[in-house]
Amino acid sequence: MQQHIDSYDFKGKKAIVRVDFNVPLDENFNITDDTRIRAAMPTLKKVLAAGGSLIIMSHLGRPKKVDPKFSLKHIVAHVSECLGVPVAFAEDCQKADAEVAALKPGQALLLENLRYYAEEEGKPRGLAEDASDEEKKAAKAAVKESQKAFVKKLASYADCYINDAFGTAHRAHGSTALIAAYFPNDKMFGYLMEGEIKAIDNVLKNAKHPFTAIIGGSKVSSKLAVLENMLEKVDNLIIGGGMGYTFVKAQGGKIGNSLHEDDLIPQALEILAKAKEKGVKIFVSQDTLIADAFSNDANTQVVPSGEIPEGWEGVDAGPKSLVTWEEVILASKTLLWNGPVGVFEMPNFANGTLKIAELLAKATENGAYSLVGGGDSVAAVTRMGFAKKVSYVSTGGGAMLEALEGKLLPGIAAVQE
Ligand code: AMP
Repeated sequence: MQQHIDSYDFKGKKAIVRVDFNVPLDENFNITDDTRIRAAMPTLKKVLAAGGSLIIMSHLGRPKKVDPKFSLKHIVAHVSECLGVPVAFAEDCQKADAEVAALKPGQALLLENLRYYAEEEGKPRGLAEDASDEEKKAAKAAVKESQKAFVKKLASYADCYINDAFGTAHRAHGSTALIAAYFPNDKMFGYLMEGEIKAIDNVLKNAKHPFTAIIGGSKVSSKLAVLENMLEKVDNLIIGGGMGYTFVKAQGGKIGNSLHEDDLIPQALEILAKAKEKGVKIFVSQDTLIADAFSNDANTQVVPSGEIPEGWEGVDAGPKSLVTWEEVILASKTLLWNGPVGVFEMPNFANGTLKIAELLAKATENGAYSLVGGGDSVAAVTRMGFAKKVSYVSTGGGAMLEALEGKLLPGIAAVQE
């Protein structure tokens, strides 16, 4: 049975906590953004304050073998500083018995990178490129078999398990999906995970209407499942960014050299037809800022979205689109935003995306619930200083996308079931 972190008795217990400390490091191994470390602190501090001790586990990067470049030793000092207690380090996550035995209430231990072991992901490594299907199958079966012992070892260190790693909740890995089974009555979510789950429920299960989703980004293909799931939930769907041009082309518009996916045109038409059937209003940009090169210094002009000349490409939403979207957004009671509506990395094409951030903040101030998910949208609200002015900013890119597709994430399911 799932427990709650606020009511669980941690006194004298060892808690093994899966966090997402996959932080960016520079060439000297300095942390360039510690958001993920700070995000886990409420959970970690809670366990220590309640008289427990911590065994913290995470992955860092995508090592394919033991590789000092991806060692979590680089972050021990910073984690200690954030936590306010010295954090011990176990150089091998599978050989930490001595360090674990030495842990006293109020103390913390960080395990070395879980992904030094293929068993964490449960995928074979080092297979020859010309390996036969049979060899691949055998290697997969072997790693799945040794994964059991890997997970059992991690579980043996602790009395209870906390998953606070939303960023990896969509991965069915040893430390996210399998370990929970060893703690049938002593498993729970951390505060970060709980916040993310609540935010997702607020839009997917308990949305107040009108509900508007703003889905942008580069490709329809990467967000097709999100668009399809949104059709079941929303009143309005704003489709912006590069993916919008596939929809414009599908409806017979001329899109010049704009980003698009011809093979997704049937799906785009299907989405438009389904929306009509369900009474969902779809808003694709009416006008577009176009550029004669994919460069911040390119020549630009604004044209109707279906009249983009050859040699030009759409790079941002136009002013008329933004006026329409503004009306829709400000009239909404629930808002979900994922993906930029233009090439916002280039300052001259960032206007639309920054405007969406501003409108979400304004709608939230007026009482709407707003969830922002996905790296670029999060960057946009942060850049505008609006991160605290929207209701929730998600810390998970891929995990949030899969949740918005309507999938139950393995890391969440394992604790709930
Ligand atoms: P995604 O990862 O699918 O959310 O896409 C984000 C990327 O989409 C960002 O790097 C944007 O620069 C890009 N993007 C947004 N609008 C456009 C556009 N009109 N043309 C090309 N790329 C775009």
